[in-house]
Amino acid sequence: MKHELPKLEYSYDALEPYIDAKTMEIHYTKHHQNYVNKLNEALDKYPKLYEKSIEELLMDLEVVPEDIRTTVKNNGGGHFNHTFFWSIMGPNPQMALSEDFAQKLGDFNNFKTEFSNKATALFGSGWVWLAQNKDGKLDIISTSNQDSPISQNYKPIIGIDLWEHAYYLKYQNKRSEYIDAWWNVVDWKKVEKNMSEH
Ligand code: MN
Repeated sequence: MKHELPKLEYSYDALEPYIDAKTMEIHYTKHHQNYVNKLNEALDKYPKLYEKSIEELLMDLEVVPEDIRTTVKNNGGGHFNHTFFWSIMGPNPQMALSEDFAQKLGDFNNFKTEFSNKATALFGSGWVWLAQNKDGKLDIISTSNQDSPISQNYKPIIGIDLWEHAYYLKYQNKRSEYIDAWWNVVDWKKVEKNMSEH
């Protein structure tokens, strides 16, 4: 089956005023759609690869023929990363952490500061993630372009899109204001589900 844009669980204006409706609409219908289209175009050359999920492709890029591997890494990564990004945000975010998760995360303000600093400092386009390594340990990591944590044996728990297309209309060059605002739409109930599956 060809890859498809996932259904967005909330309206474009649902994350206002933190993320504006126009940015959401363009981000979802143009940028994310484009990653999906380019991924499918590449896989059309090797239809057998449609049997694999996007996760399977990204976790084992070696199975992808070399002539489309970079396209799949970039656009498949873009598809996976954005699907994940939409899934951890929401209009009525649950802010309270479970005791178990809070304990794993350590001091919440320290974590938030460290994550925000890493996101602010990232050079160029990419993402910053809270991700779980193979041993279950939580790390704050960054990835360039649309590289995905699952290609590096990490399971993403939260992640922020730091491409300018994610914030430029509303925040222009003020990336740190976007990051500060973004915390208001992270839904910790959804985030914790990523943990409990481990
Ligand atoms: Mn994006």
